[in-house]
Amino acid sequence: KAYKTILQLHDDDMRKLAYYDSLTGLPNRWNFKENLTRILHRAEKEQCRIGLLYIDLDNFKRVNDNYGHAAGDKVLRTIARIFQKATRDADFISRFGGEEFMGVFPETRLEDALTLANKIREKVELSKFHYEDKRVFITASAGLATFRPGDSIDDVFKRADKALYQAKEGGRNRCASED
Ligand code: GH3
Ligand code: MG
Ligand code: MG
Repeated sequence: KAYKTILQLHDDDMRKLAYYDSLTGLPNRWNFKENLTRILHRAEKEQCRIGLLYIDLDNFKRVNDNYGHAAGDKVLRTIARIFQKATRDADFISRFGGEEFMGVFPETRLEDALTLANKIREKVELSKFHYEDKRVFITASAGLATFRPGDSIDDVFKRADKALYQAKEGGRNRCASED
């Protein structure tokens, strides 16, 4: 296939480049922001039933340091597939950046979102990675928050981030929800 410069790309290729992460194929953070705005708009008075899940892989720098960047990339691609498989069609999962992912669960109560979050976390923990026949353990921590009346995206985002921080502080490989 002939190499194309950015200017030669067709509209479809451009859209893909703008909205999807090229490593994992997941929606990127711009796609996430647009979708969340749309979901919020549609939900109107039911916004408190929207869960935001901020996932961050644990000690991922170590994976790169110990096994190389290519191995780290492979883990990210596999983890992305796990997230996609574990979520429902109405959910939205994106690669927010680096080893961080953001999920949106519409029409989900906080306790149900937490159950879902833990299911996803367990799938990561149980996933089997190997490097030169040695098992590599990958875990993730996550912070969960739901929309409250009058919340901006940033407000919920901050609470999810705070919850993620608590999950990390609490020892990693766990999910925490806003208080
Ligand atoms: P913590 O448990 O506190 O989150 O520790 P951490 O090591 O995961 O966090 P830190 O922010 O120190 O490191 C994140 C690492 O993720 C560092 C960076 O090299 C790696 N990373 C980010 N994006 C990519 C990527 O696209 N490919 C690979 N292989 N590594 C990536
Ligand atoms: Mg991080
Ligand atoms: Mg991390």
